[in-house]
Amino acid sequence: MQIFLHDKMVPEHEAVVSVFDHGFLYGDGIYETMRAYDGTVFMLDRHLERLSRSASLIQLDLPHLQMIRGAVCETLQANGLKNAYVRVTISRGKGPAGLDPALCPRPTLVVIAEEFRQYPARLYAEGVRLVIAKTRRNLAQALDPKIKSLNFLNNILAKIEAKERNAYEAIMLNANGFIAEGTVSNIFFVRAGILRTPSVDVGVLDGITRELVISLAQKNGIPVEEGRYLPEDICSASEVFFTNTTSEIMPVAQIEDIRYEIGAVTGALRGHYREYVTKYIAGGA
Ligand code: PLP
Repeated sequence: MQIFLHDKMVPEHEAVVSVFDHGFLYGDGIYETMRAYDGTVFMLDRHLERLSRSASLIQLDLPHLQMIRGAVCETLQANGLKNAYVRVTISRGKGPAGLDPALCPRPTLVVIAEEFRQYPARLYAEGVRLVIAKTRRNLAQALDPKIKSLNFLNNILAKIEAKERNAYEAIMLNANGFIAEGTVSNIFFVRAGILRTPSVDVGVLDGITRELVISLAQKNGIPVEEGRYLPEDICSASEVFFTNTTSEIMPVAQIEDIRYEIGAVTGALRGHYREYVTKYIAGGA
């Protein structure tokens, strides 16, 4: 495998980062996960915009976006990949111990691309099981959810809960008990014919898939509400799904002891999403 490190492609065994890198020492850095379909990175501009926003919120000097775009394309080409998982990671860089970002003169840029491992079709056909984690989502006032940071311990603790309970994903509530998001996903549910999702002010990442699903719903006459919801609101839902870049729209069959059908809204949105991807890679979206 070939990795883009700093400013060039290197073989995987040479793609090493210093133990003094502040991404390693302090989780000081940001990242984006993207998906390439048939050689085209889906929503690349949106991911680069969000990367740039994350960088500016932590006062990290980002290499030029054109350079990062080039690095992404080069990594796909060097590995001969068309359908891929792509991750861009940028850490504060190497520097002496200490929290001051000024200790690190140059950020570390890494681009990894791997063959996309398709999720089993069974998951989409049958839906997945979720639990509500005891671990609450970080306070938005403590760590702005607009920063897609390398600090994932909060989500990892919730993921551990999900695994211990044989669930696929965990829903995290915010400190006030409102539904926030999954450990790596945004949550949607349908109740009384309205598609509902926690508003970003609940303290969630404004997922790029979330944004697209909202706009596809609106364009196709499905009413959408962004709001503050309690776990009991989702109990009375008729359909639930979660979204992210790699899974797209993943139907949910069960949360705790409550079962859900994979309903018409989820089915329709999955169809609209697939159509949008097809158009996008053909250059017409
Ligand atoms: N929420 C969290 C915490 C995430 O980590 C992710 C994706 O990694 C998402 C939501 C979904 O974001 P996107 O649709 O941009 O992949």
